Amino acid sequence: MENQNKKQADKIILTGDRPTGRLHIGHYIGSLLRRVELQNSGEYQKTFIMIADAQALTDNIENPEKVRQNIIEVALDYIACGLDPEKSVLLIQSQIPELCELTFYYMDLVTVARLQRNPTVKSEIQMRNFESSIPVGFFTYPISQAADITAFKATTVPVGDDQLPMIEQTREIVHKFNTVYAPVLVEPEALLQENEARRRLPGTDGKAKMSKSLGNCIYLADSADQVRAKIMSMFTDPLHLQVSDPGHLEGNTVFTYLDAFCTEEHFGRYLPDYANLDELKAHYQRGGLGDVKVKKFLNNIVQETLEPIRNRRKEWEKNIPAIYDILKKGSDQAREVAARTLSEVKSAMRINYFEDTELIRAQSEKFGSSFPVSD
Ligand code: ATP
Ligand code: MG
Repeated sequence: MENQNKKQADKIILTGDRPTGRLHIGHYIGSLLRRVELQNSGEYQKTFIMIADAQALTDNIENPEKVRQNIIEVALDYIACGLDPEKSVLLIQSQIPELCELTFYYMDLVTVARLQRNPTVKSEIQMRNFESSIPVGFFTYPISQAADITAFKATTVPVGDDQLPMIEQTREIVHKFNTVYAPVLVEPEALLQENEARRRLPGTDGKAKMSKSLGNCIYLADSADQVRAKIMSMFTDPLHLQVSDPGHLEGNTVFTYLDAFCTEEHFGRYLPDYANLDELKAHYQRGGLGDVKVKKFLNNIVQETLEPIRNRRKEWEKNIPAIYDILKKGSDQAREVAARTLSEVKSAMRINYFEDTELIRAQSEKFGSSFPVSD
């Protein structure tokens, strides 16, 4: 309970991404943009941003080089979007061995049946055609994610909505741990975008989620031409064949993207015939508004959003060793924090034998041994 009444000064953010590819505009609008705002808000004592390479390996075991190559891609995307290593700790998951130890202990607190109920893991298993050959590490990644979050005593986890089951699982583990052992861990809260379209941006192919694994992404590092080509070939309304036909908004990816990205200022700049998105939607539904016009509008908005990111990325691409240095420093810093939590966890679990002189004294007494032990 006391965890929920934490003062602002105690608020800590942890979030991250799997280095399975470059980051895309779904990451940006669903999570990165928010992270940057939170980082700059001054309301959080610490922000930890994790590149989840160990998690990425759980379903890329035959492709370690992919994970290795994408560490730097993700780090470049972070910095290009405005995550500032002076303000946020950027870390690599595998470099914090304490996270594995925590995971191992948390496994005792979760049942197989509970893991099987996780809807995100279920759909990810399906997507990857794992069926009966699911790697144990993949199946249990929600537990390792709980270790990531709790190691840093994160209060706040800004994520897309596919991650809600993971946060719920983490809260259950925390609750169980604190009840069984001692109140050491902090229950985190998910921070979701209010704007629904931002919580799970669909792919350019109209599939439910833009995802690195599905290859339906507009990447932050795509060139202006690549972005334009992807937008112009985007999925819209299959019934809207002629400009004069009434159009449908449901499942119309271009309009979902507009819901996520567009503001009234964008109309002023690029489409002054309409005051806002409602007017544009109404015209589309009535008929008489072509897909190309809407796509061009969306392209202007996405280009405007991506241009400064792309430029910052190009600058940092000239200084790759500095990025590895940032990641090394961040990982070292994160490791100290995780080690402190692990030590508290181990003493709560009664497995801190050598730091507990009281234990040694009591055992000595029990066996009639001399104490302190002579060498
Ligand atoms: P993978 O296919 O390898 O799982 P991914 O594209 O799903 O990659 P992750 O690294 O798993 O990306 O997710 C990182 C963060 O970005 C999570 O918080 C997730 O909720 C968010 N996110 C991912 N895809 C989207 C999306 N399409 N819309 C909004 N948020 C997203
Ligand atoms: Mg994912």
